[in-house]
Amino acid sequence: MTLQTPEDGRQRHLLTLDGLPRAAIVALLDRAQAFLDGHGGADPRRALDGIAVCTLFFEPSTRTRLSFQRAAQRLGADVLAFDASTSSTNKGETALDTLRNIEAMGVRGFIVRHRDDGAAAMLAAAARPGTAVVNAGDGRSAHPTQGLLDVLTLRQAKGGDFARRRVAIVGDIRHSRVARSGLHALRALGIGEVRACAPAALLPEDGLLEGCAVVDDLDAALEGVDAVFMLRLQRERMLEGLVPSLEAYHRDYGLTAARLRRAAPDAVVLHPGPMNRGVEISDEVADGPRSLVLKQVENGVAVRMAVLEALLA
Ligand code: ASP
Repeated sequence: MTLQTPEDGRQRHLLTLDGLPRAAIVALLDRAQAFLDGHGGADPRRALDGIAVCTLFFEPSTRTRLSFQRAAQRLGADVLAFDASTSSTNKGETALDTLRNIEAMGVRGFIVRHRDDGAAAMLAAAARPGTAVVNAGDGRSAHPTQGLLDVLTLRQAKGGDFARRRVAIVGDIRHSRVARSGLHALRALGIGEVRACAPAALLPEDGLLEGCAVVDDLDAALEGVDAVFMLRLQRERMLEGLVPSLEAYHRDYGLTAARLRRAAPDAVVLHPGPMNRGVEISDEVADGPRSLVLKQVENGVAVRMAVLEALLA
């Protein structure tokens, strides 16, 4: 039994999509869709009545933090927002001491973002028995709710027959927890084909891309695909010299409207945000008719409602 699912078989934390059964993923997607369709049950606003949750973010975030807060509010939870930049983290307090102190205030749900791989799992292992931890992004490892909202967005656009779909994942795969969780979700759902496209320096060093076609040329990677999952070029990596210049990156790996014509005529474009406009994606694509970027954000609230309800209600 893993930390996510202890002996009684009930999902206790959500730390990764790696190894999560297809049925569990589909159940969360279906529940999120029901919230979106207004079929969330009698009164979803009472589901977490009297339960307190805290967004425990040690790294910056716009979408993930606010959408978890919005999701918790919509389920009737009390929501506390912890911000590392204005907290005793600056005095050297550890993440674990921070969690234990907030737990002592009666908080039962923690939504954790941290730059260290494994941070959410470490906190989950140390948490009290009734506490649930949701990983909202740890290092390069996992961002499970992003993976879920991405496949929900794809399912809405292209239907549930993932085996018939071809997807290209383009950009800084090496540093991307979004790509990692997205791949785990796509595989669990039986995706037909995944093409990975990145400069060699931005390809992962482990076996993440096993079973994917690694295609260096963006035009070839896009040929006939149903969906393009764009990734943010983590510009902080420029310092490591992995990318020669933003101009060169855009020329070789930037998604423009002209390039997108190589994909299937009704292909859709996803991006987790924040977007580097003019680097990995042009304005024309980001704001164009194929872009599902804001749909992803909308779906993110519903997916996070489904996750919080499953762990805490
Ligand atoms: N917002 C996403 C994350 O935190 C994607 C990114 O930052 O590139 O992983």
